[in-house]
Amino acid sequence: MSGKTALVIGGGFVGAAAARRLQQAGFATTLIDAGDPSRAASFGNAGHLASEQVTPLASIATLLLLHKRLYSAGGPAAFPPRDIGAWLPFGLRLIAASMPSRYEAGSRALKAIVAAALPAWHRLVGEIGATDLIREQGHFVVWEKQATAAAGIRAACSVDYGYAAAREATGEELSMLAHRLAIKPAGAVRYTGTGQVIDLQALRGKLDDSFRQAGGIKLTGMVARLAIDNGRARAILADGTALIADHILVAGGAWSGDLLRDVEGPVPLIAERGYHIDTTLTDAEWPREMPPIAFGDRSAIITRFANTLRMTSFIEFSRVGSPSDPHKWAKLDAHADALGLSKGSARTRWIGNRPTLPDYIPAIGRSRKAGNLLYAFGHQHLGVTLAAITGELVAALATDTPSAIPLAPYDLQRFG
Ligand SMILES: Cc1cc2nc3c(=O)[nH]c(=O)nc-3n(C[C@H](O)[C@H](O)[C@H](O)COP(=O)(O)OP(=O)(O)OC[C@H]3O[C@@H](n4cnc5c(N)ncnc54)[C@H](O)[C@@H]3O)c2cc1C
Repeated sequence: MSGKTALVIGGGFVGAAAARRLQQAGFATTLIDAGDPSRAASFGNAGHLASEQVTPLASIATLLLLHKRLYSAGGPAAFPPRDIGAWLPFGLRLIAASMPSRYEAGSRALKAIVAAALPAWHRLVGEIGATDLIREQGHFVVWEKQATAAAGIRAACSVDYGYAAAREATGEELSMLAHRLAIKPAGAVRYTGTGQVIDLQALRGKLDDSFRQAGGIKLTGMVARLAIDNGRARAILADGTALIADHILVAGGAWSGDLLRDVEGPVPLIAERGYHIDTTLTDAEWPREMPPIAFGDRSAIITRFANTLRMTSFIEFSRVGSPSDPHKWAKLDAHADALGLSKGSARTRWIGNRPTLPDYIPAIGRSRKAGNLLYAFGHQHLGVTLAAITGELVAALATDTPSAIPLAPYDLQRFG
């Protein structure tokens, strides 16, 4: 140990992976989390290790297609009127970030970090004895309409993904999909170099166990605010207790903006909420080795976890704590029924907050206002995918050593 200390605020995948890496870098590390694991986006996501998602969603293409993707038009993108105060300023920044020069810079930044994502996960699970909890078996994207299938296959197969690759699904693969589903796929793409987490809670548990076994301290509690004195940050708990450390990392997912506001000014982070339904299936109904399947015409993805089959969808630009919309779960139920998945069996429901910045690039860096304050949040749809590499980048920042990827594009300063 260096005799130095680190405090990580937030115990989702990003905070947990960073805590582990800070510890390995020689810091006596404490992680504090609010406690209820189901609050974290890390709890109920699709578990897809999405190394194919190399282009930011803030793009001219997204803007041109938005009218077709609106919830009111049957698509996934919802802008609840009650939350206009959150999504209107966010949307204006998203439009600015979609302009060609920023989009191209964002693409370079996203592609670099996404390419490093799976190798970093393989290193991390290897070290914590959890190689069985990550599987790099690729995934499918399926379309049900001829026109969308033709366009989707053409588009998917023309991208240089870096780590991942895509090809049109074979006849045999299409037959297998048709056999499992109650729909006849019009076409599909098979990705390689992508993967999934086998059991999200078990992987979080393994990260916690290895952290604790190596002397890490995990606290349950809420950091109410950050205070700055002479360029050094302290974390203040609700009861007024101050936690100090040589490095304090804000990794609070969609809540990170609230903590950083007093230090950095307003952070343009939105809660981009997604919904899931879970059902219990037997191996005969849905084999464990089936990779995730995304449905291009439904904007939904299904993932087989250890004990459940999960369907997730929707991008609701909203606020943490705004009421959920039961119609969205009903729509997921309707998709699952149409696909012939677990019709009639009990399903559980969840909503969670993707932490999204307007340019769809995560924020990883060091505060200009407090030398000991680091941040890692804003991982949008990719927080599970990018958690392990983010942990490595945070450790490089804390130890002031060169990082595998230049960190400038992820600095929060880009929002001025
Ligand atoms: C429906 C859905 C599907 C998704 N699918 C995928 C996918 O397939 N692949 C993928 O890579 N990503 C996916 N994502 C995105 C991914 O879940 C998130 O990007 C990721 O979980 C963010 O991790 P995080 O650790 O930054 O935040 P979180 O997981 O939200 O964790 C933040 C933690 O910090 C705690 N916290 C916050 N503030 C404080 C405070 N002040 N004091 C103490 N604790 C605090 C919170 O309670 C929480 O436990 C999906 C998200 C959703 C909603």
